[in-house]
Amino acid sequence: MEFSPKWIAWEITRRCNLRCVHCRSSSEMEAKGHPDFPTSEAFRIIDDIESYAKPVVVLSGGEPLVRKDVFEIAQYGTDKGLRMCLATNGTLVNDDICEKIKASGIKIVSLSLDGSEEAVHDDFRSQKGAFAGTINAARLFKRHGIEFIVNSSFTRRNQEEIPKVYRLAKELGATAWYMFMIVPTGRGEEIINELISKEDYEEILDWHYQMEKDEDTMLVRPTCAPHYYRVVLQQSKKEGEKFKKRTLKFSTGGSKGCIAGQLICLIDVDGNVLPCSYFPKPAGNIRETSFKEIWEGSELFKDLRDFKKYKGKCGSCEFVNVCGGCRARAYSVYGDYLEEEPFCSYTPRKMGKAEK
Ligand code: SF4
Ligand code: SF4
Repeated sequence: MEFSPKWIAWEITRRCNLRCVHCRSSSEMEAKGHPDFPTSEAFRIIDDIESYAKPVVVLSGGEPLVRKDVFEIAQYGTDKGLRMCLATNGTLVNDDICEKIKASGIKIVSLSLDGSEEAVHDDFRSQKGAFAGTINAARLFKRHGIEFIVNSSFTRRNQEEIPKVYRLAKELGATAWYMFMIVPTGRGEEIINELISKEDYEEILDWHYQMEKDEDTMLVRPTCAPHYYRVVLQQSKKEGEKFKKRTLKFSTGGSKGCIAGQLICLIDVDGNVLPCSYFPKPAGNIRETSFKEIWEGSELFKDLRDFKKYKGKCGSCEFVNVCGGCRARAYSVYGDYLEEEPFCSYTPRKMGKAEK
């Protein structure tokens, strides 16, 4: 496997107009101690990345649309040949914003939708009107010909909604739907007991497999459910059919489950380069060290790329090269990012009879 940066999420602000229960940013309209960096700093970071690689760069937050220079940053990245994208909660989108999205060369936008109806989504987002904002943004994107991805986060609180949210994303005309089981971090730690159980997780992945086989218009993929790659291999073997995986537009470029620090990373508003959006341990800081040096030289990134170092079940697992387990969940639950994925119910062959 070649380890080059294919996809970078970039937190250009920690400020946000919502206060979602699972958010890694613990955002507030004023993110104390984590101020926005100036536009000139944004341009310098783009130059630094672009001199080394040409990844997809997703402008995220917080809520990126609260920054006045968001489209200047997007334009600068586009002019440098980067594929710029935007992740928004949708509540600030209007016709004018849609025009600016297109003019600045943004290729695709992602929206959050965590429930098929107002009550569920607004409860999850802790904001009345958030659901209406997302639906409105999706309709506006459709009207303006802007492609969009629907990202949906699930816990025990809304897991029953999964098939309904999938159908709604399809009805809205999304290019892709990514289902995500939250990883406890930031404000998410407060709801660790709300995490979907291992057993239910497995059932949901089985459901996703069956759904994905029949889905022929919208691209679908569970995000950060690395063991889905195991489930696909097991199920297709059981059913004696070849599973046709479609290429995802602006995907994280991986043919493997967890690709944190391997093909993707996050740059936070303070310049820290982290393995992914849910992994709170920095590999370095882009204000002190070049992106290339961090990517190639960080011990943390080197560890994550060395699957032989993985411990517990993941370390013994025949699927480690296609799955790898969620390193952020291992870090969050065991304080050791090389430990086994705590939400996988599989017992590797080497460790005894497979549970499934
Ligand atoms: S560690 Fe890997 S699987 Fe877990 S959230 Fe990050 S990228 Fe996703
Ligand atoms: S034990 Fe680890 S590597 Fe194996 S399938 Fe489960 S999460 Fe993946």
